[in-house]
Amino acid sequence: MAPAKPALERSGPHLREEDTLLSAPVESRSFPERAAGATRDRFLQQALTIATTRFVASRDEVFAAFPQGDALRDRARQIKEAVLQRLDHYLEQLTANVERAGGHVHFATTAEEARAIILDIARRNQVKLIVKGKSMAAEEIHLNEALEHAGMAVAETDLGEYIIQLAHERPSHIIAPAIHKTKAQIADLFARELRREVAADPEVITRLARGTLREKFLQADMGITGANFAVADTGTIVLVTNEGNGRMVTSLPRVHVALMGVEKVIPSMTDLVIFLQILARSATGQKLSSYTTLVRGPRRPTELEGPQELHLVLMDNGRVRQLAGTLREALYCLRCGACLNVCPVYRQIGGHAYGDTYPGPIGILMTAMLRGTPAVKDLAHASSLCGACAEVCPVRIDIPRMLIELREHLDREKIAPWPERLLFKACGWLLGRPALYRLAAPLARLGQAPFVRDGRIRSLPSFFGRWTRTRDLPAVAARTFGERWAALAREA
Ligand code: SF4
Repeated sequence: MAPAKPALERSGPHLREEDTLLSAPVESRSFPERAAGATRDRFLQQALTIATTRFVASRDEVFAAFPQGDALRDRARQIKEAVLQRLDHYLEQLTANVERAGGHVHFATTAEEARAIILDIARRNQVKLIVKGKSMAAEEIHLNEALEHAGMAVAETDLGEYIIQLAHERPSHIIAPAIHKTKAQIADLFARELRREVAADPEVITRLARGTLREKFLQADMGITGANFAVADTGTIVLVTNEGNGRMVTSLPRVHVALMGVEKVIPSMTDLVIFLQILARSATGQKLSSYTTLVRGPRRPTELEGPQELHLVLMDNGRVRQLAGTLREALYCLRCGACLNVCPVYRQIGGHAYGDTYPGPIGILMTAMLRGTPAVKDLAHASSLCGACAEVCPVRIDIPRMLIELREHLDREKIAPWPERLLFKACGWLLGRPALYRLAAPLARLGQAPFVRDGRIRSLPSFFGRWTRTRDLPAVAARTFGERWAALAREA
C-alpha cells in the first residue's frame, strides 16, 4: 500500500543539484571501535549513569501510580496498527484538513526531496535566520547542514540541542540530545563559546541560553519543528515540549515548517489524549509534558500571533516500504526514548557509538529501515535481547523479535562476517542433534580445563579472546542439567 501523494503534485519540490548532493557525515571508526572508546570515557559513563538511572526510576514510579497505564498502552498499540492499515486514507484526510485551515502540505519520498522542499520554501521567503525546535526527522535528513550550506543561519532552541550545536556534535539520545555531557562539561563549553565565566549550575546555564535565544526568536524569519503527532480529522500538528521553545518557534517567525515521518499521523483528538497520557510518562516520568502545542493553520486575520505561512512536510524516506516489511512494527514508535534508558548496551556506550541518527534499540531498527540491513551488520548484535526495551515501550514494540529477524537476514544474505556465520551454522547443527549435543558437554569440559578459574573463564586465546576481553565466560558446569536429570531418572 502506498500513501497518496496529493501535495507532491500540488507544490512540487524544486530539486536543485546542490541540494541533493549533500550526504551524511561519514563515521570512519567501526562500531566495535566506537563502543570500546565509549566504555573507556569516564565522563560519558558518569553522565549516562546519572541520566538513565533517573529516567528509569521516574518512569517506573509514575506508571506504578497509574493503574490504567497498561490498558492505555494496549489501546495506543491498536491505534498505531489501525493507522498503518489505512495510512493512505489518514494522510489524505490530514492533507485536506491542513489545507482547509490555510496550510500547505508537501510529500517527500526521500531525504533529498524533503531538504529540497524546505530549502525552496526558505529561498522563496528570503529567509536568513531560522529558529528550530527539536526534531529527529530534521536530524535524519541532515537539515541544518543543508540550510547552512545554502547560506542560512540556524539556531537550535531546545536547550539540549543548543548545547549540541555549540559543541558541533550530534544528539546522543532521542529526547535528551546532550545526555552524554556532564554539568561541568557544559559549563566549560558555554565559557569557551560565550567567552565568559560560567558556573556548573543548570539554572545559570539555562538563563544564559535563554538570553541568547530570545534575540534569535525575535529576529528569525522561519521556524522549523518536527511533529509528535498530526491529527487527521482536524489537521492539527501537535508538539510536546518541556521548555516552551516549541511555542516561540511556531508563533514568532513569519513562516513555520513542520517536518514529520508519515507514520506520525493519528486519526483523532480522542486518540491524541491516549497518546499524551503515555508519552510523557514513558519519556521523562512526567504525567504530562510542560507544553503541548496544537498548531492548526497559519495566523487568521483576527489573531495577534502565528506565522503567515504554515507548511507541513510529510516524509516517507523508507517508511512506506516497511508497511509490508519485517520492520513494520517499528513504525509504531513514539520516540519517547524509554527503550534507550533501560537498554544495558545503550547505558554503557551512549548514543554516538551507534554511529547514526537514531541510537538505542529502536535506533538499530530505524537505521536498518533508512539505510538498509547491511548498515546494521554490527549494530544488529548490539543487544543482549534481554527484552527490557519491549517491556517499557508504551506501544509494546517487540524490538528483540525484529533484531533476531535482522540477524537472520544478515546471515541468510551472507552479509555477516564468515567466522560468525560458520559459528552459528555449527551451533545450529549441534543443537539439532541431541545425542551429539550431550557428547559436546564432556568435550567442552575437557577443552576448557586450562582456562577455568573459580568456575569462570577469564581469558581465552586468539579469536575467542574477543569474548573474554570485557567479560567472563561461565564455565561449562561439572554436571549439566541433562546429566543431572538422567542421573535422577536412573535413581528413581
Ligand atoms: S521503541 Fe517504544 S520505547 Fe523506544 S522510543 Fe519508540 S516508543 Fe519509545
